Amino acid sequence: MFEMLHALVDMEVKTLIAVLFWGNVASVALILSYRLFIPDLRNRFLFSCSSIARLAQAAAYFCLFFRGSLPNIVSVNVGNSLLLTGFCLESLSLLIIIQAVERRLCLLLAGVLGVSLLLFNGIGFAYPDSSIRVVSASLGVFLIMAIPSVRLLTAKPASALKITVGTFYLLFTVLLIPHAFYALFHDITVVSNALVQSLTFISLILLLVFGLSAFLLLIKEKSDEITSALATTDYLTGLPNRRNFSKQATRMFEQSKQTHSALSILFLDIDYFKAINDRYGHAFGDAILLKVARFIRSRRSLGSSDFPCRYGGDEFVVLLHDVMPGETAQITTRIMDEVANTRFAEYPDFIFTVSIGVHEGHPDRGDMLEDYLEKADMALYAAKNGGRNRVVEYRGDMG
Ligand code: GH3
Ligand code: MG
Repeated sequence: MFEMLHALVDMEVKTLIAVLFWGNVASVALILSYRLFIPDLRNRFLFSCSSIARLAQAAAYFCLFFRGSLPNIVSVNVGNSLLLTGFCLESLSLLIIIQAVERRLCLLLAGVLGVSLLLFNGIGFAYPDSSIRVVSASLGVFLIMAIPSVRLLTAKPASALKITVGTFYLLFTVLLIPHAFYALFHDITVVSNALVQSLTFISLILLLVFGLSAFLLLIKEKSDEITSALATTDYLTGLPNRRNFSKQATRMFEQSKQTHSALSILFLDIDYFKAINDRYGHAFGDAILLKVARFIRSRRSLGSSDFPCRYGGDEFVVLLHDVMPGETAQITTRIMDEVANTRFAEYPDFIFTVSIGVHEGHPDRGDMLEDYLEKADMALYAAKNGGRNRVVEYRGDMG
């Protein structure tokens, strides 16, 4: 069994380097063709960074493959410098995807790259055949790749994909450490045929295959997150939209049933909004919608939760979970005051008003969310009929 495993690992190093060269060339082609399907221009830098990373690695393996035929300064110094730079750009592109391009991480990456390049090339000139060069290259790649791996593992919000990618990256890069230790005590060059050498190049091949799939999957995850946020968020106010509302509202309603806590629903509608739009223009109407959205955003004490939503047009709904006695009235009074005190620089004399319908209760087993919503809507209707600019609470005789 051990012998079979040994045979699987013990491969000719030059063949593995050739595979790495072709693999990187093919991955540049794949990344660039994938770029065509993501027209979002914000990704342009990410794709350039990732393609250059793979090109640099392909060029590095080309130089390493022709060690002996090319001058040493090209095959060894340029080759390894390109490899370290390629891995550094690969790390940077991973950080870009998970939106973790922080100053201190970039400085750390640049620092590790700089020290590795200096060590590799400096030692190379002082002691041309020293294994310390192999050590500095292996440890350099390990540290460069460890930075995005750790960041992936600690990314917030975490996802199964990020944790898997972070773990595998770390695993493959850890495999470079035995290589560094081995090189410390044995005189090897990059193309020496030693078991630890082939194991290292097999890890690099795994890193290439896995890294490419991870790159594409992480981009897909990111674009799915954006699509899902767009589908559940109102484009103008940034509040959750109606589609998002039913899911969250049902969850909060069920929670209230279980804890027998009070739940309030506010239905808010801007008064004469159509006339405002007609008179002052759509853009001004939008500015009013933005103000109202700001007023209904959460400002409750910790521990309680609420859910504001743009229900459609000029209508907003707020769900207040676990309300204290009198809290709903406090909130509606605050919203009415904020609306009344709103002034716009372009029309100093302009004021607008809103009407609010409220239904508060303790949802019980068998109660339906739709009934609560309907009652709040009836209260809003009563507020409009009563002359607008008021808050009306649902009463049993309304329906
Ligand atoms: P009421 O006092 O009875 O509520 O009268 P109203 O004029 O507000 O009545 P209605 O609810 O019918 O008017 C809603 C208007 O909201 C109609 C539509 O043109 C406008 N509207 C819907 N969405 C937007 C938007 O995103 N921006 C702007 N500016 N207006 C919008
Ligand atoms: Mg209205």
